[in-house]
Amino acid sequence: KTTNGQAEPEREFRVSFEFFPPKNEAMERSLWEAIKKLEALDPAFVSVTYGAGGSTRERTHSTVTRILKETGLTPAAHLTCVGAERGEVDDVVRAYDKAGVRNIVALRGDPPEGVGSAYAPHPGGYENAADLVGGIRKIADFDISVAAYPEKHPESPDWETDLAMLAAKVDAGADRAITQFFFDNSAYFRYLDRVRARGIDVPVVPGIVPIVNFKRVAGFAGKCGASIPPELAARFEGLDDDPETHALVAAAVAAEQVAELRDQGIDQFHFYTLNRAELVYAICRLLGLGTKTEKAAA
Ligand code: FAD
Repeated sequence: KTTNGQAEPEREFRVSFEFFPPKNEAMERSLWEAIKKLEALDPAFVSVTYGAGGSTRERTHSTVTRILKETGLTPAAHLTCVGAERGEVDDVVRAYDKAGVRNIVALRGDPPEGVGSAYAPHPGGYENAADLVGGIRKIADFDISVAAYPEKHPESPDWETDLAMLAAKVDAGADRAITQFFFDNSAYFRYLDRVRARGIDVPVVPGIVPIVNFKRVAGFAGKCGASIPPELAARFEGLDDDPETHALVAAAVAAEQVAELRDQGIDQFHFYTLNRAELVYAICRLLGLGTKTEKAAA
């Protein structure tokens, strides 16, 4: 209730979870434990990544279709166009359509030499993610998510180039953008202002990464242009050999970040789970996200 006694309109709080396809049986078992645990949080969808250059094409497909068959979850298949001919990419899209998968996360992918090296489209391939979105739209009616970069994509020379690419993806038919992970909420809000000022009106869902291992996350952040605020680094200082405290701090840090975004009116969040349920589950529970059982009881 508000201070004047009127009921506030119910705000929805929705999450989605990202997984990567498992490489072996042990990883497959832990992935499925994670999926089963997080299913209780009733996510809007769960997505499965596509390995660099399409290296996990079959594994992504089999994980996505297994989620569709064996759970009540909505799977979203990541798909990149780097290093592939249009026909190959279109075949993957058609296979998802045939299998009944309705959600795709459409990406360009990184050049084979890695983030930061020059990108060249495959001859006869899709030019970039916007071109890919247009191609998918021609094949069937999918729900399409694309990537967005609150601290600018490392290849973008300026904001105008970066935002023009996001605008092109939305004009081609993207339904929402999911951001690269970030730790500085003010960077996200500045970005959102830029996006809205550019006339882009789709949801820009914050991508949240739980800090399972600070050193590893910091290394990855450096490569993809996500800044690490000094006060964040300080919180993890000296915890490399203290996994219990590290995990407690990581849960608190991510819950605090999401709570602050919620306070500012953001209601949808995408969690990079790294195929581990514990931290993400704890973070969602800290934020008061009810399980399906609790919702049914309410
Ligand atoms: P685009 O939108 O096509 O381009 C990205 C940016 O690069 C643009 O903003 C633009 O400013 C700049 N740019 C592009 N072309 C040029 C040019 N010619 N000149 C100047 N600037 C240019 N990668 C995977 O391999 N598999 C995955 O499953 C995967 N999932 C992801 C999920 C999310 C939510 C995010 C945020 C990223 C994911 N990535 C994944 C990483 C992604 O493939 C890389 O970030 C890639 O470098 C860009 O892909 P994009 O779809 O954003 O590309």
